[in-house]
Amino acid sequence: MIAIAGKPVHSGIAVGPIHIHHRSNQHPAQFSSLTPQEEWARYRRASIQASEQLLQLQETSSCRLGKDLAAIFQVQAALLDDPDFIEAVNVYLQRGFSAECAVLAAGEDCAAILLATPDGYMRSRAVDVRDLARRLANILSGEIHTVGNTPGILIADDLSPSEAVGLDTRSLVGLISCQGSSNSHTAILARAMDIPSLSGLNYESDWENKMAVLDGDRGYLYIDPDEATLADALNRQQQRQDQHKLLLAKLKEPCRTLDGHSVRLYANIGTPREAIAACENGCQGIGLFRSEYLYLGRDTCPTEEEQFIAYQQTVLAMNGMKVTIRTLDVGADKRVPYLDMPKEENPALGCRGIRYSLTHPELFRQQLRAILRAAAFGPISVMFPMVSSVEELRAAKSILVECQNELDQNGIPWGAVNIGTMIETPAAVIMADQLAQEVNFLSVGTNDLLQYALAADRMNPALESLMDPHHPALLRFLRYTAEMGHRYGCLVGVCGELAADPDMTLPLLQMGFDVLSVSPSALLTIREKIQSLTLGQPIA
Ligand code: PEP
Ligand code: MG
Repeated sequence: MIAIAGKPVHSGIAVGPIHIHHRSNQHPAQFSSLTPQEEWARYRRASIQASEQLLQLQETSSCRLGKDLAAIFQVQAALLDDPDFIEAVNVYLQRGFSAECAVLAAGEDCAAILLATPDGYMRSRAVDVRDLARRLANILSGEIHTVGNTPGILIADDLSPSEAVGLDTRSLVGLISCQGSSNSHTAILARAMDIPSLSGLNYESDWENKMAVLDGDRGYLYIDPDEATLADALNRQQQRQDQHKLLLAKLKEPCRTLDGHSVRLYANIGTPREAIAACENGCQGIGLFRSEYLYLGRDTCPTEEEQFIAYQQTVLAMNGMKVTIRTLDVGADKRVPYLDMPKEENPALGCRGIRYSLTHPELFRQQLRAILRAAAFGPISVMFPMVSSVEELRAAKSILVECQNELDQNGIPWGAVNIGTMIETPAAVIMADQLAQEVNFLSVGTNDLLQYALAADRMNPALESLMDPHHPALLRFLRYTAEMGHRYGCLVGVCGELAADPDMTLPLLQMGFDVLSVSPSALLTIREKIQSLTLGQPIA
């Protein structure tokens, strides 16, 4: 047995075979040593495999993201049989190209034809053709196109948020992101999906398919576990399940402290599906819907209609409880290839969050219209990310009003929304008094606030020891935000990972926070913590 220490990212015990995700940077050879007929046979086999993959993806994403978003894979499967694409592949093969290069070249040709048409729908299919060509080329070169579809513990050097969104959680029992920090978005996703997870360890390529135990509580990975380790792991898995049942039973008791202070315990989600898990774990609302996850792991922008459906599904699933939708927070580590996002020297300090939305007003309006339309079906709040000035907030609010007018003019029903802002830049903390006068609520994003307060990149594992979430600077920022928010009549909450830290529940409540918003997997623990506390002083 080999035991390797890593950083715990999400608690829990996983037992299963190791699956290593390699990302290949090799370019396939342009010309083949095989005959065109042999390359044609390789291409046809890859085409059948791609069709099976797409069908599977359609099914899994339909469960996780809804049928409309999954339809994209259906479109790509149909493109596999497109006679123009097949003919183009054949032409390149006859010229002696390898099948890998023939499909990529044919994909580019078909994409160019589509991009030249006046029809917007046809133009938008160009990305599908390219993605399909890439999928075929990956299959031909033996690479895995999607990660995590093999049951077991997935090890990856690092996963981008889009790759993490593409994970099939039904087959994934554990996740190890070797280079990711415990505050990265991939770590947040592992917590949201409730998958035991570690980061910061090196692996050997011969671990593939070896049996392993991932201990997310103590931060260890055991390869070829001995009998005692395996028995201990299975035993602790059972204990966790028993504990979970006990916590579920406490849902019957109200979410308030022993001395009677009620707390709003909300959930952080990224897809409508997660709202269901959140409800099962007793959340009282959604405090953060990271809407950018609707944009990740795909090749085209979700349409207004797709977004509307996702928000409407969420609000209906919440059955009258509040849903807080944060507008698109792309940029920094959340790169979306099909959006206009120039490479930046310092992306964490770049055009992200509200800055991106304000400089791409049509995209922003599309999202705001979808949110407003969904608000006709239940209580929705809209929240703006990465705000660093009052002017930005006012600009966002005035676009919201324009969207309301536009919907009115077109006779489209919409509902009123509450407005809030994230507090995740030091500037927003210092301006919290003025920001609070513009909105109904403030919500502190401690993940970003910590990195900007300490000038330490949250994605950099080497700075992990610096990123002390209990740093007095962060605590002072929190206290000041709560005070200013209350002074100007706002509800104040925390939706960063700090809200899920049981050691911080008492200090946060004593500072006066009204709302704690945590990932669905942390709801039961934090609820029990609240129920066990005595505040000893009224909430300010
Ligand atoms: C935060 O920064 O704390 C937050 C909730 O936003 P995200 O983690 O999505 O950047
Ligand atoms: Mg943030």
